[in-house]
Amino acid sequence: AVHVETHGFQTEVKQLLNLMAHSLYSHKEVFLRELISNAADAADKLRFKALSEPDLYENEGELRVRLLIDKEKRTLTISDNGIGMTRDQAIEHLGTIARSGTAEFFRNLSGDQARDSQLIGQFGVGFYSSFIVADKVTVISRAAGEAHDRGVCWESDGSGTFTVADVEKVGRGTDVILHLKEEEGEFLDDWQLRTVVGKYSDHISVAVEMWQEPREEEAEGGEKVITPGEWKQVNRATALWTRTPRDISDEEYQEFYKHLSHDYDDALAWAHNKVEGSQEYTSLLYVPARAPWDLWNREQKHGLKLYVQRVFIMDDAEQFMPTYLRFVKGVLDSNDLPLNVSREILQDNKITAQLRKACTKRVLSMLAKLAKDDEAKYQSFWQQFGNVLKEGPAEDYAHREEIAKLLRFASTHAESDVQNVSLEAYVGRMKEKQDKIYYIIADSYTAASKSPHLELLRKKGVEVLLLWDRVDEWLMSHLSEFEGKQLVSVTRGDLQLGELEDEESRKQQEELAKEHAGLVERVAKVLEGQVKEVRISHRLTDTPSCVVTDTYGMSSQMMKLMQAAGQ
Ligand code: ADP
Ligand code: MG
Repeated sequence: AVHVETHGFQTEVKQLLNLMAHSLYSHKEVFLRELISNAADAADKLRFKALSEPDLYENEGELRVRLLIDKEKRTLTISDNGIGMTRDQAIEHLGTIARSGTAEFFRNLSGDQARDSQLIGQFGVGFYSSFIVADKVTVISRAAGEAHDRGVCWESDGSGTFTVADVEKVGRGTDVILHLKEEEGEFLDDWQLRTVVGKYSDHISVAVEMWQEPREEEAEGGEKVITPGEWKQVNRATALWTRTPRDISDEEYQEFYKHLSHDYDDALAWAHNKVEGSQEYTSLLYVPARAPWDLWNREQKHGLKLYVQRVFIMDDAEQFMPTYLRFVKGVLDSNDLPLNVSREILQDNKITAQLRKACTKRVLSMLAKLAKDDEAKYQSFWQQFGNVLKEGPAEDYAHREEIAKLLRFASTHAESDVQNVSLEAYVGRMKEKQDKIYYIIADSYTAASKSPHLELLRKKGVEVLLLWDRVDEWLMSHLSEFEGKQLVSVTRGDLQLGELEDEESRKQQEELAKEHAGLVERVAKVLEGQVKEVRISHRLTDTPSCVVTDTYGMSSQMMKLMQAAGQ
């Protein structure tokens, strides 16, 4: 090897390696999922690039991943003939973390191993997970289209530095050689490895092969038949979404989800649809069980994995999902988009718009089905992603009715802070003469449920939705009615109870107003310049007075938000 250099890992990589060694032990076989997944990505990238540069195949168009055990050297090698890496790429990709929000991720770690291992999984442990089972890793790679002597040998013991050297490599692609730790002998066991690999790679669209040693068998008549050693495919190697849904088991769907999302947990729900006709596409969309650590990070990568006619095009194609459904993971395979599609082309494209609408509908109906079939599961979905879904009515006016049905609130009906009341349930419980849906937004559940604004409605047995999440003001300003019933904040203006008010109490109120006209005038004088109007209120029963907002003015929460923003 020539031109040997030593480089230090980026600080974050050092931290990550250290964490993995201590937190990921119970999930150690994820390294296989990650490395096979990288090899499959490398095959995908080569197929894509070769669309315009067919020479990159170097007359070897059969893409495959091979696993090779060497018991003497105690190594496990994962070898692919995909796109490969140049020396510079190896230094960059295997020495740093490219993901945005990396610093924030590290701030999120708590030191609690169980919790952190979840986070690391969501972050995508990737190549560095090799060091969970290996005390030394050697990567030998040559990029497609480069000369044979332009290979690179990358090596590290994972402690702080790595070396790179120039080497010759005839076959295109990457060999990752894991020098297994003393206690990781199980990965040298052919049969055990086969079991794990089969599970992780059935749905991957590239062949995964393992070496079968030569066998000597006794045939009929005592003759000895020798089968020579050969590479044998151990996975199905058909992209899962191209198969017929009824032939796919739940386990297979879950395994594919984990491959796609780098999540350790099962998905909560999924929808797999093949559409033929004027539009032709297949979508496989998943709702995760848990929110990713960076759900609220603006730069969070989201979107679907895009294929065109089964050729991988790009990760994180965010054009096919609205922002309020950014937690959805999945694959979209279109027959209508051109193979040379780019992010720019996707941006302003009729087919993109149609696909986005179709995918949005799929997710909304999958959630509606989940809510109907499994309340407990839907409740856990709501806890994780409810606040994201609440952005929906503002972002997606066209689907606001469907979204509104998916919303869940706390209310005075159960007197608990669990958000599990749907608007449909509320409407079903409405009083005979009630024609509006009442709600209150406050800073906290307690502030909402103890608000004096609720007194009269409580007395009349009218249910009020209790809202206190940051996004609620935004939500309610875009949700003015549901099934023809107006949504009304109980803090606004002269609360219109409509038919709920009876004639007698109205008369009584007018008399009271006359009787106390003097008091009102005096209070108004004292508060002059600080309030717009003083009037006798009938909505309070136990509290002497309260501040309300104009019917058409800003609500008090909105005012607080504006004040906080310095306006
Ligand atoms: P991710 O796959 O999420 O990008 P990884 O840590 O798994 O993160 O891999 C980092 C990068 O290293 C990849 O994006 C890719 O550029 C490069 N890489 C890793 N394995 C291979 C491989 N087998 N062939 C080519 N490039 C690879
Ligand atoms: Mg990877």
